[in-house]
Parts: sequence; C-alpha cells; structure tokens
Amino acid sequence: MKIHEYQAKSLLKEYNIPIQDGYTVDNTSDIEKTLKKVENDFNTADFVVKAQIHAGGRGKGGGVKYSPDFNSALSNSKAILGMNLVTHQTGPEGKLVNKIFITEAFDIEKEYYVAITLDRTKNKNVFMVSTEGGVNIEDVASKTPEKIFKLWIDPDADLTDSDAQKIGTSLGFSKETLDQSINIFKNMYRCYKELDCSILEINPLIISKDSKIIALDAKMNFDNSALFRQTKISEMQDLTEEDQTELEAKKYNLNYIKLEGNVGCMVNGAGLAMATMDIIKLSGGEPANFLDVGGAASAETIKNGFKIILKDKNVKAVLINIFGGIVRCDRVANGVVQAVNELELNVPVVVRLEGTNADIAKEILSSSNVEIIPAINLEDAAIKVVNEVVK
Ligand code: ADP
Ligand code: MG
Repeated sequence: MKIHEYQAKSLLKEYNIPIQDGYTVDNTSDIEKTLKKVENDFNTADFVVKAQIHAGGRGKGGGVKYSPDFNSALSNSKAILGMNLVTHQTGPEGKLVNKIFITEAFDIEKEYYVAITLDRTKNKNVFMVSTEGGVNIEDVASKTPEKIFKLWIDPDADLTDSDAQKIGTSLGFSKETLDQSINIFKNMYRCYKELDCSILEINPLIISKDSKIIALDAKMNFDNSALFRQTKISEMQDLTEEDQTELEAKKYNLNYIKLEGNVGCMVNGAGLAMATMDIIKLSGGEPANFLDVGGAASAETIKNGFKIILKDKNVKAVLINIFGGIVRCDRVANGVVQAVNELELNVPVVVRLEGTNADIAKEILSSSNVEIIPAINLEDAAIKVVNEVVK
C-alpha cells in the first residue's frame, strides 16, 4: 500500500525526523486561507506547492512549484489542484490531482538521496544513499551506479551508531551534519521496521544553508500482508488513488491485479495463476491481469471473475484455467456455462479444466449451447487463447 508525501512526512515527524512541513488543501476555495496559515505558522514568505499523487517524478512533470511570494503560490496552487499530472511513473494517462500540499520553502545547500528497502537477493534490508539526490536519481542509478552507497542490515538487528556513521561518512557529511544524520538514519530505520514499510525513501534529504538536515520529500510503501497490525497506516489509504477494479474485486473476495496485456486470465490458486501468466507470455501473448478466484470457483465466483476481467476494455479473449483438487471440475464447468449464458460475453473463452471429474466437465462443456474453446492442457490453452487475440 502507498500513501501520500504529506502522510509519510507526518509519520517521519513522529520519529523525530525533521521535515519540510505544510498544510494540505483539496478545495480551491480553501487555498488562500491555507496559504495564510503556512505564511504565519512557518513564518515564511516563499512557498512550495506540491501535488499529492501516488507517483514520483512530480517535480519534472510540473507538479512541484517553487513560489517566491504569496500571489505566485496562489496561482500555482490553483493551477496544480485539479490538474491531470503526467510523470514518468503515472503512465501517459496521468493522475488527477485531488489534493495539494503547500509548504514552506527552504534554501537548499545540497540534495541527497536516502532510502531503505528489502534486498531479496541478500535476505537483508538495504540502506541506499547517494550524494546525487534530487529529481535525476534514476539517471544516477543507471549511468553512475557507483555513486550509490549501499549498506545491508540484518532484518533482526537495529541500525547501530557505527552503521549510521558509515552512511553519513559515505555522503561526505561534516562533523556537525554527521552528528545530526546519525540520529536521523537510526530513526529512519526504526520507522521502516516498526511500520512494516517495504520502501522508505527520502529524496531529497537536504542540507539547508544553515546546516540543518531536512526531509523535503518522503515516499513510503507498506507490506500489504502486515496491514492487519498497522491499523493507523491502513486508515491512511486513499481509495481514489487505487485501481477501482482492484477495489471492486476485493469486495467479491477475488485476488485481482490489473496488467497491461489483452488476455484475461481466470485461475484458481495463486501459483497456477502465475504459471498461467508465464505460459501466456511464452506463447507470445500478454496477460491482461492476475486473477486468483480462490478454492471455491463456484458459478457465482466465475461470474464475478468475468465481470471484473471484462471491465478492462483491452481484454480480447479470456483463458479459464482451473485445476480441480477439492473443487470438482463438473461444478466449475456448470458455473462457466451458466456465467457465459447470463453475461452474454462477446469475447472468446478458452477453458482448460483438469483434475477431479475433468471428463464429466469436458462433456458438460461440449454438449452445452455456449461457445467455449476447450483446451486439452495448459500449453494448448495458452496457444489457443493467444491465437484468438491475434485474429
Ligand atoms: P518529486 O520527487 O515527486 O519530483 P520532490 O518533493 O522531491 O518531488 O520535489 C522535486 C524537487 O523540487 C526537489 O528535488 C527539490 O529540488 C525541489 N524542491 C522541493 N522543495 C523545495 C523547496 N522547499 N525549496 C526549493 N526547492 C524545492
Ligand atoms: Mg522527490
């Protein structure tokens, strides 16, 4: 799960990490009032107006604007709130800006990149830092990776003073900033661990002209599997930022993730669903989604599955791949026939059913009045469904 910058900053603040603070606005009529509040509470004459969307690259996309005075902050706020912001992370369709964060501006001496995430190849958390922070960090990672310093930490351990010192030293901090940074890095790591983050990124972490270290931006993603014990974090979820079909699928108890291809997939079991996507790709196709309908695969689930899959207008054909272990294939076959009949589908459907009562299931499908393309095994199913989309 992702949260907005302003929410991430409120969490960092609780961990005693200095942030560039401000106030949010989601209504044009409140802009002026909020600007006055920023002006007074932070005793500042210049502002930075920041679009709050779940995507990075806002600066380059025109969603972060330095505003040297009240009037420019007013016009920048009006322009950004409600705009459709396109960044390299939103895709060409962009994201609607429903909320802005108006903050005090800082005189930046230097921008740094600092982040913590899980390094799966090493089974450790990794602190990644660079002196080349700011809006071009992706270029640094691809062109000059040697400018990124990494320190791996055992997930059971805390970040020690000496670890934190190594990180600060790698950034070339002077004695004064090094002392501040040790606490900041230790607090960051504590925040990352205690809140079950999958990413905690501050880019840029800056040193101000008066030698203070401040988090100017913050990005936090959380491990969805840990949300049950992170009630406060769960409550921060902004439903308008989530994929609406994924939210609807959750209501049906379906595990659905939208992808970019055109072959819809309906599968029981997450492992089989992954294998199905793999074999579609191997056969030259592109899956439109991941969908695990779970163990039951009743007529109702199949129907809901179709409803979800077909909300995606890119879908040109659907592959149903069910392995009947506990669930009997004949029941699934009846479900498929019923669902196809009731929903009047206008895309071809390839069905592969294997396992308990598969023979009876094949009989049900072939003697039914619905148009279904039967497949004898997974490879056959993948080739057939890919043929349907290229027709
Ligand atoms: P994003 O990472 O989505 O582009 P950031 O919050 O990192 O958004 O802002 C982008 C850039 O804007 C920063 O790298 C920084 O250079 C500049 N910026 C942000 N806040 C300020 C500020 N208070 N004063 C001056 N520049 C700022
Ligand atoms: Mg940033």
